[in-house]
Amino acid sequence: MSVAFKTLDDLSLDGKRVLVRVDLNVPTKDGKVTDATRIERVALTIAEIANKGGLPILLAHFGRPKGKVDPAMSLEVVVGDLRRIVGKPVHFARTDWTDVSEARKVIESAEPGSVVLLENTRFHPGEEANDPELVARMASLGDLYVNDAFSAAHRAHASTEGLAHALPSAAGRAMEAELKALEQGLGNPQKPVIAVVGGAKVSTKIDLLENLVTRVEGLVIGGGMANTFIYALGYDVGKSLCERDLKDTALRIMDKAEEARCAIILPIDGVVAWHFEANTPSRVYGLDAIDKDGMVLDAGPQSVEKIKTAINEAKTVVWNGPLGAFEIAPFDTATVDVARHVAERTRKGLLTSVAGGGDTVAALAHAGVKDDFTYVSTAGGAFLEWMEGKPLPGVDALRQG
Ligand code: AMP
Repeated sequence: MSVAFKTLDDLSLDGKRVLVRVDLNVPTKDGKVTDATRIERVALTIAEIANKGGLPILLAHFGRPKGKVDPAMSLEVVVGDLRRIVGKPVHFARTDWTDVSEARKVIESAEPGSVVLLENTRFHPGEEANDPELVARMASLGDLYVNDAFSAAHRAHASTEGLAHALPSAAGRAMEAELKALEQGLGNPQKPVIAVVGGAKVSTKIDLLENLVTRVEGLVIGGGMANTFIYALGYDVGKSLCERDLKDTALRIMDKAEEARCAIILPIDGVVAWHFEANTPSRVYGLDAIDKDGMVLDAGPQSVEKIKTAINEAKTVVWNGPLGAFEIAPFDTATVDVARHVAERTRKGLLTSVAGGGDTVAALAHAGVKDDFTYVSTAGGAFLEWMEGKPLPGVDALRQG
């Protein structure tokens, strides 16, 4: 991926109405935002546009209203937190996206230095269909378009892709930081690169593994998905989570890795338990001696050492997925140990570390190292599609032609 896209530095913002696609899809409970991380990530872009004399007009989706107006999924719920975090007045504009006259009035009367938030873009079916008529209606509300929502960039929707072609466009600061980090992670990384991939199942990560083996020098496979590989190599994994029907897929991925000269780093021992619950008795077994009635719930200490040694050789680490059932103690040990090792080498300037997708953010937060990696992406699906090497329409539309 090349970083040849425009940024806020390339736009003249003063006096302009700036449509800004942001990610405000925050978790809520009883009408309150429970985690404002996503709002914090886009605050910089919003404030910068307002401080440079532009009027930020925010576009975002919230939940899955499936193309219909659903008051339970109104973006009004984020107004209070947005105002507090951005530190500017926020005017909320209701619209069903068929009639935007009300939104236009709010925009026209917004005072300099304030922010306008438009209603959930997914209240209209044209959003997900990337309908040109909706794109034109949205575009009529602004002079410029800024996309700051990397997490929605894997979708070619009206507000994530269509608008970039309708107005002069650029990446916002959060998008810019994300794209730079991804460029450092896999696009144009310092070699050697080690990818660490864990999590439950191979079936959800086949494309990701197939792409990574052609891009990195070493691939650590951990978590439940390692069991499928270990089984494919002829070991008995007892009652462990294992997708036996994916044996050939696992063998194919290992063959592809060998062809591409990518070293596959699999566990050599496992922490075995007989119940899937916290603090249940467990024992470490070598691969050839896994108890038939047991489940491998974490990588063993020798595996952790092997992974750390591999990481010591690397200049870049890209990470997705936990190395064990990290939610229940003590099966978080391998994930926590390896995450802290990566964090320490990153702090010392020896390593660039980029992580994201699914449970990875929670696992790194659990290890207490979320802020010590070079970059941790909170974009689930878009981060995974990037790791799979798939095009991201929202990013491609921003590229300089
Ligand atoms: P994913 O969403 O694919 O990244 O998978 C994350 C989930 O995988 C977490 O909930 C972990 O508890 C689970 N997991 C990781 N390793 C194992 C394992 N050895 N056995 C069972 N579940 C695991």
